[in-house]
Parts: sequence; structure tokens; C-alpha cells
Amino acid sequence: MRLTEAQSKLLFAERDIPVPRSRAATTPEDANAAASDLGGGSVGESQAVVVKAQVHCGGRGKAGGVVIVENPDEAAETTARLLGSELNGEIVTAVLIEEAVDIVTERYLSVTVDASAGRPVVMRSERGGIEVEAMAGDIEVFPLDPVDPASTPGLRDGIERNLVELFVDSDALTVEINPLAVTAGGGLVALDGKIELDDSARFRQAELHHRFGSGAEEIGSERERRAAELDLRLIELGGEVAVLANGAGLTMATMDAIVAAGGRPANFCEIGGDAYTKATPALELVLAQPGVRSLLVNFCGAFARCDVMTEGVIEAWVRLRPRIPVAFSIAGTGRDDAMDMLRSRLGIEPHPTMEAAVRAVVAAASEGSGR
Ligand code: GDP
Ligand code: MN
Repeated sequence: MRLTEAQSKLLFAERDIPVPRSRAATTPEDANAAASDLGGGSVGESQAVVVKAQVHCGGRGKAGGVVIVENPDEAAETTARLLGSELNGEIVTAVLIEEAVDIVTERYLSVTVDASAGRPVVMRSERGGIEVEAMAGDIEVFPLDPVDPASTPGLRDGIERNLVELFVDSDALTVEINPLAVTAGGGLVALDGKIELDDSARFRQAELHHRFGSGAEEIGSERERRAAELDLRLIELGGEVAVLANGAGLTMATMDAIVAAGGRPANFCEIGGDAYTKATPALELVLAQPGVRSLLVNFCGAFARCDVMTEGVIEAWVRLRPRIPVAFSIAGTGRDDAMDMLRSRLGIEPHPTMEAAVRAVVAAASEGSGR
């Protein structure tokens, strides 16, 4: 879940990371009142404030979503213009009215998960305010101690350590301050904030997710919701290969195998346990996702019986008659019966190994997409 600037700055302030005084506004009247309270800040004797559109995407400055105005009336006018307008594909529904800060230089500071390094890193630059990609050589990256991140040698006291603690305590994927402004008074202020929380950690961050979640993005897609209502676990990922498998471990291994074979999983639905009785809605839901080009059914039986699970899928297949390339991989308890059923009832020959089945669905998906 991505937080807005206003939400991010609330969390910064709670960690003693200085932020400008600000107030959210959803009407021009609110904006006017907020500007009256906040104006007359550090920029001379003026009543200047900054009006900032609250959308999730970055690059608002360039797109006209960050406007310095001279007085409350201008703040109201600018707010009226921004509300309801589209900024980088998002409709503006709120603005942040912020005291104007007298900037000397802009720096960059973030903590993020570096997937290739396999651990969180701190990134800092003396040249901020621009897109991180444009900083290239000016950016210093160093890994955090995975056991005790806040005690990593080289980490600076104050804002840096506070930001690392916020990152760890909130199970964030990214916390970013860009720009971290050096002000005329010599202080540091977080002028912009971006936080992305790890949705996989929602179970231990319920309060945070409840506080900032909009509802819609928390629950997932319409199909994921329907699956959850049926007590089925469906996760959508956006690739081309749909997956039905039994058990969390096999399902994760299947995702890895698809990626290793050069494919992209579209989604997965677990139909182990007694979920095989819901094979029809499970099959319907994984295939209903736009962009799905092939289907992998991967069963590995132990206590769960492959013949029982496969029978469920066969019945679903007969009902739905999908016209999509499919590959079956079946191993373990009940394998031989399951394979016989597939042959006799669907005329489908299961693949001898999981690797072969994965190769087949990845090839079918890339043929379908012309990739
Ligand atoms: P982004 O473009 O979405 O990243 O929005 P930012 O909040 O980072 O704002 C973009 C730029 O506007 C910053 O890099 C600053 O240069 C400028 N800016 C934002 N707030 C202030 C302010 O209070 N005073 C001044 N002088 N400039 C500001
Ligand atoms: Mn920014």
C-alpha cells in the first residue's frame, strides 16, 4: 500500500523527522482558511504557502501539481483548479496546504529493499529534488545490518536513523524523502514524503493499514474478493500463466519455476485441502483474469490425494470447457489414478515432470502473446 505525501509526513513527524506545518484541504474554502493560518512562514514577510496535489504518483512538480502561491485567495483559486483535475493519470481529490520553506539546497534520502542485494539499503544524495534515476553517480548506497538495522555503522544520527526505524517498525518496502531540504536557517526539513508499506506484513501492521487504507486497495481485485468469499485463496500477479496447485509450498515453488523458465505467473489459486470441491469457481476465477494465456495444474499428493483433486478439476473442465492451453503435472499419492482419469475423460496426457509442464505453459503463453 502506498501512502500519500500527507500520510507519510504524519509518520515522519511522529518520528521527529521535521516536516513543514501543513493542513489537508478538499475544498477551496478549507484551503483559504488553512493558508491564512499557515502563511507568513519563513519566506520573508509574505503570506506564501505551497499547494500540493495529493496523488500517489511522483513528479507532481513537473506536472503542475505543486504550486507556490502568494496569499490565501490564490491558494483557494489554485485548489479549485487542481481539485477534480487529472495529474499523471490520477484524479486529484485533496490538496495539502503547506507553509512555504526557504530552500538553500535539496538532498535525497531513502531506505528501501534492494531485491538484488537481498537486504534493505540506505540511499543518500547531496543532489535531491530530481528523480532518483537522474541522480545516477551522485547517489551513495549502503546496506543496512539485517539483524540490527538502526545500528548499522555509517548511519547518521537524527533523521537517517529515525527513518531507518520507521522503515523497520512499519514493515515498509520504501520510505523516501525527496527533497530533504536544507533551509536558510540551516535546518533540515522533509519537503516531500513517499512510503510504501509491505502488504504481506499487514497481519502485524493492522493498525497502520487500518489507519491509512482506503478499503479498495486493501481487499484486492473483484475476483480476489469473490474467491475469498468462497474461502478460496486467489492471488493475482499480472502475468500470463494461470496456476492451480495444492499447498502453499508447492504453489510458491511453481511461481519460481515459471519465472525461471522465462514466463510470468498471472495468478495462483490453491485447491488443496477440501478446496478441490470448489474447483469450478477456482478454475473460472483464474481464467477470468485478462491477459491469461495458459494454465498450469500442479498437484503433489501426500495426505492430499491427487486423484481426488484431479477429479475436481476434470469436473470443472467439463462444465466450463475452457479453450486455453493447459499442462498438468501430477506427483505423489493417487498419481496413477489421476493420470488415467485425465487420459480417459479429457484426452489430456500429463507431463512426466513439473519442469516439462512448466516449459509447455510458458511456451504456450509466449506463442499466444507473440513474445
Ligand atoms: P514531486 O514533484 O511529486 O516529487 O513533489 P515535491 O513535493 O517533491 O515538490 C517538487 C518541488 O517543489 C521540490 O523539489 C521543491 O523544489 C519545490 N517545493 C516544494 N515545496 C516547496 C516549498 O515550500 N518552498 C519552495 N521554495 N519550493 C518547494
Ligand atoms: Mn518529491
